[in-house]
Amino acid sequence: MFAEPWQAQAFALAVKLSEQGHFTWKEWAAALAAELKAASERGEPDDGSRYYEHWLAALERLVTSRGLTGTAALSERKEAWADAYRHTPHGKPVALGEDQPMTVTTKRPKEYYHQRSSAEMDKHLLEASWSARQKVALTCRILAEEGHESALAGQISSRADKPGTYWMLRFGLGFDEASASNVQLVDDDLKVLEGEGMANPANRFHLWIYRNRPEINCIVHTHPPYCSALSIIGEPLEPAHMDTSMFYDDCAWLPEWPGVPIGDEEGEIISNAIGNKRAILLAHHGQLCACKTMEEACVLAIFIERAARMQLLARSAGTIKKIKPELAKEAHDYRLKPKAIGATFHYFARRVLRKDAECLK
Ligand SMILES: [Zn+2]
Repeated sequence: MFAEPWQAQAFALAVKLSEQGHFTWKEWAAALAAELKAASERGEPDDGSRYYEHWLAALERLVTSRGLTGTAALSERKEAWADAYRHTPHGKPVALGEDQPMTVTTKRPKEYYHQRSSAEMDKHLLEASWSARQKVALTCRILAEEGHESALAGQISSRADKPGTYWMLRFGLGFDEASASNVQLVDDDLKVLEGEGMANPANRFHLWIYRNRPEINCIVHTHPPYCSALSIIGEPLEPAHMDTSMFYDDCAWLPEWPGVPIGDEEGEIISNAIGNKRAILLAHHGQLCACKTMEEACVLAIFIERAARMQLLARSAGTIKKIKPELAKEAHDYRLKPKAIGATFHYFARRVLRKDAECLK
């Protein structure tokens, strides 16, 4: 039945994992059938000669999808076995060496790990497939959960496909009531093009930022308690922790309050004050994050509030020590890797979707 010992091992492993309840035999049969079908679609001969290769491919796929091992761990393991095979004299059984593929004494430049983590993130981290409208709704829900609710204050907007049009939550609703169906499409004078009700008049200053910053696609503006507290004591954000390093040299400060932002003057003042930075703390008002993606704007809004909370907690206990600029810059870029930001957004989205998946409708 088995031409080679590994085939028997692969067979026994599938039986064992099924017995242990990691998948049912029916699921196993479906996974194997899918591999065989794919092989036949690739034009492989149907003579059974590669049956156990397909068996192994199905096993790898199931084991990875069940989280029994990551694809990265699996390919490392396969590479280790291939290496051991290449170094084993003919006729001897292949075994994994004790110290493969890395020993505790191996030391590599940090750049190696930066590149490797980027490559692995590109390969393995989840991509969100939600529409812009759904992402606006998800961001509203996420920020409601994160304590950004301030009744009707605060707005989240996103450029729509047609130039000069934007998605935003219908005025009169709280963030926790957002769903894709009550996110409306408006033009650049806040007239509603799609959806019910009126546009939020305070969104006018968003339009000024969009006008000045063509690369910006999403804006999140909220009045959460810790950012608001910093804003009323007149203190700029001072990121001094790894988790908040994305704001290092990337958070502006508007020291004067121009009044409620429903006019054009406030829009000009705020858009000039943010300059080319991603975030701004607005005196006597709150925070704003303007980013290329909704994922980034949402994650930064979560973390600017956490940074403000950390700063106020730290200051009440001692003096904030600054971080070294070169390390802060490195951490800033690391924390803002688009794939990591995307996966972080996905994590917060899963949290709100577990509570109410209806917000995507
Ligand atoms: Zn506001």
